[in-house]
Amino acid sequence: MSGTLVLNASYEPLSTVSPRRAVVLVLQRKADLEHAVPGSRFRAAALDLPVPQVIRLRRFVKVPFRQQAPWSRRGVLVRDRHRCAYCGRRATTVDHVVPRSRGGRDTWLNTVAACADDNRRKANRTPAEAGMRLLVEPFQPTPADALVLALGGQGAVGELPEWLTARAAAGSLRAA
Ligand SMILES: [Zn+2]
Repeated sequence: MSGTLVLNASYEPLSTVSPRRAVVLVLQRKADLEHAVPGSRFRAAALDLPVPQVIRLRRFVKVPFRQQAPWSRRGVLVRDRHRCAYCGRRATTVDHVVPRSRGGRDTWLNTVAACADDNRRKANRTPAEAGMRLLVEPFQPTPADALVLALGGQGAVGELPEWLTARAAAGSLRAA
């Protein structure tokens, strides 16, 4: 399935997020479940919920009018949900797909979240040269995406709760 549609409190569509992100927003009481995917369940540890198809934010958020979300390292980590683009483990660094030493720039499409090990291993090489495969394609977030992602956690923006992160890393978290 594609993503979960996020509605503003005013019912305007804002963005889509992963079903897991949608569940987190509902659990954090930042959004209410509007529609579930019929007949589906989302299971993780003691959690068993319908898979959200549409959620609605409890508080109205004003979407800043901008053509593009400004690039930042933190923004890349939030966009990629702190998951390494090469191995899926927790990422704390930002990798330039085309290395800066080779003319690669600080743009949304040239940067991905990466774990420190993979960032070091890739060094000043392209993924092809390093024999590494991107699990996800970098994308340009819309301002609404950036906003919705930022709503997902306190402190380190966009982080999943610890118990959920541990399950996700173990591969036992999935939308059934
Ligand atoms: Zn990695």
